[in-house]
Amino acid sequence: MSENVLLKVDDLQVHYGAVQALRGISLEVRAGEIVTIIGGNGAGKSTLMKALSGLEPCSAGSIVFAGEDITRLPGHQRVARGIAQSPEGRQVFADQTVRDNLILGAYHRKASRQQIDADVEAQFTAFPRLRERQDQMAGTMSGGEQQMLAIARALMARPQLLLLDEPSLGLAPLIVKEIFAIIRGLQQRDVTILLVEQMANQALAVADRGYVLETGRITMQGAGQALRADPKIRAAYLGSH
Ligand code: ATP
Repeated sequence: MSENVLLKVDDLQVHYGAVQALRGISLEVRAGEIVTIIGGNGAGKSTLMKALSGLEPCSAGSIVFAGEDITRLPGHQRVARGIAQSPEGRQVFADQTVRDNLILGAYHRKASRQQIDADVEAQFTAFPRLRERQDQMAGTMSGGEQQMLAIARALMARPQLLLLDEPSLGLAPLIVKEIFAIIRGLQQRDVTILLVEQMANQALAVADRGYVLETGRITMQGAGQALRADPKIRAAYLGSH
């Protein structure tokens, strides 16, 4: 089992001044898996994503990616090693077209123009709505379309691991459904995904495994379907018993 572990986080701690946002997080993601971290407001989900992508320094613990300790590596070097993040709030380049946003997603790759064009084409096949809107300014797209663009742009980096921070945030239920269907489809494209979500029901439905994050600690873990059926989870996160 351990040889296909892509990401291993051990006793990770993050402080904001005197506030400890992560209190010793340990988790792993195996190649090919979709793993979700669920938790309510302020649990530390975004902090964990920032620590993994190198935006927030860790005060203790370690992050090992593809067998290499990356705990102290700056963000761009993590991207170069195959970790891409689609950040919370999407953050597409509003004044650039959809196509240019995708091309920018591949900025650090040493790929030929033809290769990049082929990869843009692949994103258009996966996200037909982006093809229709390829010349539109990203800032004028709907929230759901911008979310699709943010995911597609992250994929342009050809990541081994895709970090998705609350892809459902601020989206209407139908669009959320569509986004989760896309996330499930990514697994067929050989992308390993760590998905942070408040929408526990949908996230656990697409995930192979899940972790529950509460005030900076992992309090439960298990198979996505098992967590989804767990009475404690149902009561706390799914609004039913
Ligand atoms: P949400 O779903 O509401 O975005 P979250 O699970 O992503 O919540 P974080 O944003 O990671 O939670 O925040 C975890 C804790 O750390 C919170 O108590 C928050 O107030 C605190 N925190 C986050 N960012 C900072 C910061 N820059 N400075 C100080 N405290 C922070």
